[in-house]
Amino acid sequence: MRKVSRLIVAVFVLVFGAGLEWARASAYDARPKLVVVLVLDQFRGDYLDRYRADFKTENGFNLFLKKGAYFPQCYYGYANTMTAPGHSTIGTGAYTNGHNIGVNEWWDLSRSKTAMVSSVQDEDYPLVGTTVDAAMGASPRNELASTLGDEVVQSTGGRARLFGVSLKDRAAILTAGHASQAAYWIDHATGQWESSTYWMKDLPEWVKAFNSGGAIERARKETGNPTGDFYENVGAKPAGVQYELDFTKALVTAEKLGTHDVTDVLTLSISSTDILGHAVGPDSPEQRKLLDAVDVQLNDFFNFLNAHVDGGLANVWVSITGDHGVATSPVNAAKEGMPASVFPYAALTAELNKELDAKLTPGKATRFVLGGGLPYVQIDSDSFAAARMDESAAESMVAEIIPGALAEAQKGQFETPDSHGLRPSTIRHVYTKVQMAAGDLPNTEEGKLLLHSYTTNGGWWVYITPGINQVPAGHGGTGTGHFSPYNYDRHVPLAFFGGPFVPGTYLEHAEPVDIAATFAALLGVNRPSACVGRAVTEAIRQEDGGANPARAR
Ligand SMILES: [Zn+2]
Repeated sequence: MRKVSRLIVAVFVLVFGAGLEWARASAYDARPKLVVVLVLDQFRGDYLDRYRADFKTENGFNLFLKKGAYFPQCYYGYANTMTAPGHSTIGTGAYTNGHNIGVNEWWDLSRSKTAMVSSVQDEDYPLVGTTVDAAMGASPRNELASTLGDEVVQSTGGRARLFGVSLKDRAAILTAGHASQAAYWIDHATGQWESSTYWMKDLPEWVKAFNSGGAIERARKETGNPTGDFYENVGAKPAGVQYELDFTKALVTAEKLGTHDVTDVLTLSISSTDILGHAVGPDSPEQRKLLDAVDVQLNDFFNFLNAHVDGGLANVWVSITGDHGVATSPVNAAKEGMPASVFPYAALTAELNKELDAKLTPGKATRFVLGGGLPYVQIDSDSFAAARMDESAAESMVAEIIPGALAEAQKGQFETPDSHGLRPSTIRHVYTKVQMAAGDLPNTEEGKLLLHSYTTNGGWWVYITPGINQVPAGHGGTGTGHFSPYNYDRHVPLAFFGGPFVPGTYLEHAEPVDIAATFAALLGVNRPSACVGRAVTEAIRQEDGGANPARAR
């Protein structure tokens, strides 16, 4: 009998042993010590596979490709693939119809009749650390949902430390959320790090020391741009990435992230890939070189975390993704035989104003169309109201004339494709805000993407989608852009690194909203308020509540 009971004990230990040894993760006792939500701005889903052979470091992109759970089939489930909504989506695990951020900036005639307001502009909270446009202010007030970080802070009674960093204000603020101790971004002209009175009265001493410590001058010198706009000149170079990562290291050190008795959260968005990408496109050797540099710089950054977080990288979880993909440059797409064009947004706006004025207020040159940038065409509710039209009638009228106005705006330009093989831009579909608010959309996958793109911001507007590879692109079409429901704009990589994840490549469908859902589930906190993602259980060890039976490393 004793032999039998010993056998039972042995079997019990064999079957359940691994589970008993491993203490389940939870935010409440700092397992892990630090969660990093890493974003690369304009990081298309094919890059990691396309340039995989370039990545030679151990803890750069290979931290995710070799030691992490990699989801190459990750697509945004909405259509308005822009930076502000992308970062809000990553932070909140919700789409625009959940967090309400639809585009980077929009017209709000109640706040200004002469300029758009940005997604994070807030005059109630002036900027600190700068004299440039300080009164415009900044805060997360337009983001109408909580983030993963917000939930960790709330669940730990305010003890968790939460920070957001990016060269871009919107990327720093919207990813981290409302309950962060601080969000930091740079003044475009000078490169100085700044924040707003939403978080602080004055910059902490360590930020002041960083700003005056010679980092700006070093970065400028490295790029050979001693003067000029820091964001455009330095931001597009590897030196801009290094500048941002050096600041983040200073933050980790000063705030002792990853050394507390609850889990800390850091959101970090690297802007340089977007600044360069708009100018040169995704196929450019320069963009490849930048990604190769980022690989080396991330390796250095994660080795730094390994040395500074209690217990090292074994106590850190990281997700990586992009805020949107990008279209092939129209000139390149045309060269490869694809239909492509430079979308004439400004000319379309001018033509719409001309036609509406002729129809409604002949000869008065009334401003009916405000513009604002694709995919939205925002219209002037005051002017339409003065012409005795309500929102529904105004938007319907604009929607109806858009295809003809676009053709008219390009008249005589494309009797044959131009010297680059570019053709006229066309409209695939137009929907009014009234239609989208009512969910009056086709019952198709594309209809669902549009439903998820609805925002109350921007006054009255119509939503337009041009044909494929039609982008408002600079440099005569060698530059490029992103905003559309097409897969090249929605495709981003997604990967997780950390104890609960079984390394491997997973071809299951994934979405960026899964980041907040997965981390919330593993940390044992509430999902963010509007989160629609799923926990990626197929990549999580059974011991951690997932479905993957693979042995622990
Ligand atoms: Zn972006």
